[in-house]
Amino acid sequence: MDWAESAEAIEGVDELLASVGLGHGHRRMLAGSWVGGERRAKAAPGASQGKTGRVFGAGIEVVRAPGWERYRWLRHGFSSRAGGVSSVYAVGAAGELNLGWTKEDDPANVEENRRLFLAEVGGVGMEFVGLRQVHSGMVRVIERQVGLVRDEVFVGGLQTKDGRAVLRGDGLMTDVPGVMLGVQVADCVPVLVADIRRRAVAAFHAGWRGTLARIVERGIGRMRLRYGSHPEDMVAVVGPAIGACCYSVGEEVRSEFESQFSYAPELFSEVYDSDPVRERYPLLFMTARAPGHSNIGPQIHLDLWEANRRQLLDARLKPKRITVVGECTACARVGGAHRYFSHRGESGFAGRMMAMVGIANQNGESA
Ligand SMILES: [Zn+2]
Repeated sequence: MDWAESAEAIEGVDELLASVGLGHGHRRMLAGSWVGGERRAKAAPGASQGKTGRVFGAGIEVVRAPGWERYRWLRHGFSSRAGGVSSVYAVGAAGELNLGWTKEDDPANVEENRRLFLAEVGGVGMEFVGLRQVHSGMVRVIERQVGLVRDEVFVGGLQTKDGRAVLRGDGLMTDVPGVMLGVQVADCVPVLVADIRRRAVAAFHAGWRGTLARIVERGIGRMRLRYGSHPEDMVAVVGPAIGACCYSVGEEVRSEFESQFSYAPELFSEVYDSDPVRERYPLLFMTARAPGHSNIGPQIHLDLWEANRRQLLDARLKPKRITVVGECTACARVGGAHRYFSHRGESGFAGRMMAMVGIANQNGESA
């Protein structure tokens, strides 16, 4: 199958690889932040034997939006750190599922992890397309290109021979069966969208800069133009990402959001650090914005889950068709161990998760 990025001009936002970090605001997890999403864990079919004799590749988790399984052509999922063959970020003995080409990890591990996760998501035989993510509002369209040789277009155009993404941007959309779109995250918000009537899908990577650039809202606008999608036919899921519990930002971030969004005050909360009880249970003390009354300045926390949900609503999606997984990558734990990789939670030394979405090859079968 042959395809290429469309030549359509895309207005970019500044290319910013800037750090996500504006002060370290790690907080303990409060119980009960899990509000949706379906979780599944099982041994990966491709589980392999590692150098030490341990069995790797087992226990890969796929976090899914409830109800999406009814669309048999649709493939999607969010990874956690569970399973896989990486060990560089691991505390325990089990392998982990680092899906990003980080400088610390062996590329062979990443390649194997990607293969394992693609299989778990039901994408065996599908072509994976990723991005060189730059915290922008750029969305790329992946389409079939007739009359071009696949290797020229795909390998030469969208991915290098060793699997590195070529396209820059932070959103992908396609209506081509057999393509699996992926964005990688380690606190930023992954958002997946599907038009269930016209069979088109999109994946977005939304940190605060991408959210500010309205990548989700704009991306859905482009789906409407490109595919004739109607918002009432769309489903969306906001995946695991850093929550308001842990995401402290600078005042300048709040100012930027206030200049862009009328609902900005609803996205920010102030957390006071002075009191050990407050330190321990920050959510109990989050207040609506009430500036200028504290001796010790509050930390400002941003709710990126809600910010992206609001963009989906502004794009006219139906509220009941939007799922917010609601799990914080910085503080969610399972059995005492971090469930996700977190740039904030691990002070920058972290692997990457991935969110994938795609349209299965015909008959819902893998090629
Ligand atoms: Zn948290």
